Amino acid sequence: MAYRWPVGTTFKRIALAVEDRSCPVCDRSMHVCDHRYHALWTFEGPTQVVNRLVRCPDPSCQSRGRTFSPEAELSISMPRWCIGWDVLCWLGHRRFARHWSVPQLRLALKDTHQIALSDDAIEHYIGLYQTMLAACQQAPDRLADAYRDIASLVLTIDGLQPEKGHETLYVVRELMSKRVWFAEPLLSSATQEVQRLIVLARQWADRLAKPVRGWMSDKQDAFVTAIATEFPGIPHRYCQNHFLRDVAKPVLAIDSHAKGTMRRKVRGLRAIERGVLEERRQATAPEPTPPHETAKADAAPLSELPAAAAPVPCASSDVGVVRMDSSLEVTGVAAAGEPGVEDEAGEVVLGYCAAVRGILNDSLGGPLHPPGVRMSEALQDVRDSLERNLQAQKGGVERRC
Ligand SMILES: [Zn+2]
Repeated sequence: MAYRWPVGTTFKRIALAVEDRSCPVCDRSMHVCDHRYHALWTFEGPTQVVNRLVRCPDPSCQSRGRTFSPEAELSISMPRWCIGWDVLCWLGHRRFARHWSVPQLRLALKDTHQIALSDDAIEHYIGLYQTMLAACQQAPDRLADAYRDIASLVLTIDGLQPEKGHETLYVVRELMSKRVWFAEPLLSSATQEVQRLIVLARQWADRLAKPVRGWMSDKQDAFVTAIATEFPGIPHRYCQNHFLRDVAKPVLAIDSHAKGTMRRKVRGLRAIERGVLEERRQATAPEPTPPHETAKADAAPLSELPAAAAPVPCASSDVGVVRMDSSLEVTGVAAAGEPGVEDEAGEVVLGYCAAVRGILNDSLGGPLHPPGVRMSEALQDVRDSLERNLQAQKGGVERRC
């Protein structure tokens, strides 16, 4: 990739020479015939590698016309790259291990290392990094190494669709060493297309010389047919995850219905909160203002709530659902006449409202922890908490929250 260096750039020079100067054919000492200059970015700044090229001086030697480059060149960078290995590794690691975006990488290179690269250049090098990483992961000798202590293989295949409307990425994984073997985007899930991947998997297994103990997939027809053809007699199991998901569908439908029913039952949070705020406004209003009759009647029961001895920490939070018992528990008994009592009671009511709203809006949880079941449990916790507060107050008062 061509790189335009700013005028006046000062380079750190590294001169490299061929290690063994004797001709590999006739053993004569080779002569320096040319120099190749390679300018690139390393973390030590702009660097110029000067390669001394050599060739055999004997016109009759078979190596005639061949030039030899210093071996050390490749330990700094690859030919025609404008960055060294150090910068390439830095880019790849930040991009894939830390999920930095390309503009973020560009700015960090510029600010921290004074290396000016365009987004295009960074994307190009990230592409090269990925290619190398994939080649490294799939290298037969490395694979053989990883499977040295594994007696047999369990393979899986699944189609992933990162974005709707795009081609599906088919991934073949091996479960004993938890390795992705390879992945290929296929436009269709036709048996022929899929079969090609299964054949490839068989070639990999053959190369490792390990028996395949079983296959696992979501058992779509193309997989079943292709695996039965290429791996006759090998068990093919339904993937647990897919199985569970299919079983869970009716469960989640029922759960969703139950959630709707509970939501309809727990209503009027806003009216309660408005009552508290209205009451507070009146309490802080100047003396002569007469209290509004209807608002007074509406908020009356709230002012008689037991007051919290301590401020309620999660009053304004709607995510504190799990801490509800400890944070919302009201242990104190109303001390009539003390300043701020009514306000504290209001805080408690608002706290309960926030907690209940959080519970109603919480829709997290998969089939093993259905959101409706969690909602029901959380609402029961609120009910228990209210009950305890009523017990704590002698001659308990009806509560509306
Ligand atoms: Zn020679």
